[in-house]
Amino acid sequence: MSECIFCQIADKEMDAAVVYEDDAVMAFDDIMPQAPVHTLIIPKEHHAHIGDAVSAETLLALFAAVPKVAEIKGVAESGYRVIVNNGDDAAQTVGHLHVHVMGGRQMAHGMVRFSDET
Ligand code: AMP
Repeated sequence: MSECIFCQIADKEMDAAVVYEDDAVMAFDDIMPQAPVHTLIIPKEHHAHIGDAVSAETLLALFAAVPKVAEIKGVAESGYRVIVNNGDDAAQTVGHLHVHVMGGRQMAHGMVRFSDET
């Protein structure tokens, strides 16, 4: 079994609340949601980072899933934020490329907070 928890989810070795799946990607609800809608989309292939030899085909599949997930989760009309935390300075905590789709509530302008700010 892979040590990567998102590979385990992709391989159906670990449970997740799956929202959408196709040959290349899987989308599931974040276990610690930070918005009323907070869904993660992962490529089924393991890539730690966006620059980690990810093919254009996989990147396309990843981002093509975004509006599908938004539609399924009911935020296509109201809007949503799409975030990729990539690497240490971005505070990426799971080393398997993933896209956050977040919505369901009006967000404030601005999206960056630094760790040395209160
Ligand atoms: P990031 O900080 O961008 O690496 O985001 C990782 C996200 O994965 C966090 O929002 C976690 O809450 C979420 N997460 C970690 N483990 C799981 C899991 N088993 N199922 C669903 N979401 C998870």
